[in-house]
Amino acid sequence: MDPHLRDTYEDVLRRNPGELEFHQAVREVLGSLGPVVARHPEYTDAGVITRLCEPERQIVFRVPWVDDAGRVQINRGFRVEFSSTLGPFKGGLRFHPSVLAGTVKFLGFEQIFKNALTGMPIGGGKGGSDFDPKGRSEAEVMRFCQSFMTELYRHLGEHTDVPAGDIGVGTREIGFLFGQYKRITNRYESGVLTGKGVTWGGSQVRPEATGYGLVYFAEQMLAHRGTDFDGRRVVVSGSGNVAINAIEKVHQLGGTVVACSDSQGYVVDEAGIDLEVLRQVKERDRARLSAYADVRDATHVTTGSVWDVACDIALPCATQNELDETHARTLVGNGCVLVAEGANMPTTPEAVQVLADAKVAFGPGKAANAGGVATSALEMQQNASRDSWTFEHTEARLGEIMRGIHERCLTTADAYGLPDDYVAGANIGGFIQVADAMLALGV
Ligand code: GLU
Repeated sequence: MDPHLRDTYEDVLRRNPGELEFHQAVREVLGSLGPVVARHPEYTDAGVITRLCEPERQIVFRVPWVDDAGRVQINRGFRVEFSSTLGPFKGGLRFHPSVLAGTVKFLGFEQIFKNALTGMPIGGGKGGSDFDPKGRSEAEVMRFCQSFMTELYRHLGEHTDVPAGDIGVGTREIGFLFGQYKRITNRYESGVLTGKGVTWGGSQVRPEATGYGLVYFAEQMLAHRGTDFDGRRVVVSGSGNVAINAIEKVHQLGGTVVACSDSQGYVVDEAGIDLEVLRQVKERDRARLSAYADVRDATHVTTGSVWDVACDIALPCATQNELDETHARTLVGNGCVLVAEGANMPTTPEAVQVLADAKVAFGPGKAANAGGVATSALEMQQNASRDSWTFEHTEARLGEIMRGIHERCLTTADAYGLPDDYVAGANIGGFIQVADAMLALGV
């Protein structure tokens, strides 16, 4: 590693002890920047990389709320405002018991480069809480969201910081958060949150955008190799918003998704995952995936991993570090030709190496899952102009944006002598966009 990059990385380790996911995300990006630093000393001279590794602002707060039994519950809330160089801080909120400061920091760091790659005017940030929505009543989720926003609202604004959803935060939670923001501020400031319902300022295609965008990106990767989704056997991990919409788009493009998963196991449905049943189980009943196998002629498996299921294309859409070296070897052994990340950092560095060695095409999340945040930027655009676009128009814009990101990854990788390396293309392409703006804006 270049000495400047190594010093920066060691600084990150020293300043953020124990935050392993954040270390991993920084190491992954810095690992691509060697050739950039060699070609552009101006970035090093202006301390751009060191500055990017330190969030502009970090907010940690207590979230007190009362459960249905009348007991007081305390959770911890976070918002990491990482970079506002390209626009207001932008990125989702994750509600999951595993959320720690380092989780939010890794996600916020990734978000800077992802958002830059979209070419849209959005900075990078992320937030969340260790609140576990599982098993909570709707009233409990509402009281939690209201308390969360009672603290967070003072840090937000359509020109300042614009959260959205992530794991555990969908349209329902965004509604409760937006309602509380509106109540406290006495302002109908639509552009302060994205992922809103379409009848109250949301955008068409926003719920579908991450999953659809992922499949558009994978489609471009396949086209670049002279092939497509038609007749392909696909495995998707997860069964949340990203996974469900990815499955829908794969089916529209002629592929068959034969398996998907949740934290308790996975289902294999050789006839292809039935979306109506899946949506009923996961979205409407908010139940376990095992309920899918009660309705369909499918197998529910609770041992091993969804990556044991043979496929041509793998789309990890669950969570970070879910696809490890062993899984990657299994995928390669089973003839998988493409992996594209719908989740953030789902593939471990060792697994990425296994895929690279086996010449499996690999689309990193920063590029492949950027359709969600890009459509959030389209939602902000509609809010700013008090307009609402049709589904067709919005989906066409999403398609253009994903093709643009794919193109930018390839041309950037080529320019640095690393043809077809999407990891380098995404990291360098995102970095240069934000780094040039940082130079222009001064220290
Ligand atoms: N949480 C999503 C992501 O990881 C979307 C963020 C947004 O729409 O602001 O990119």
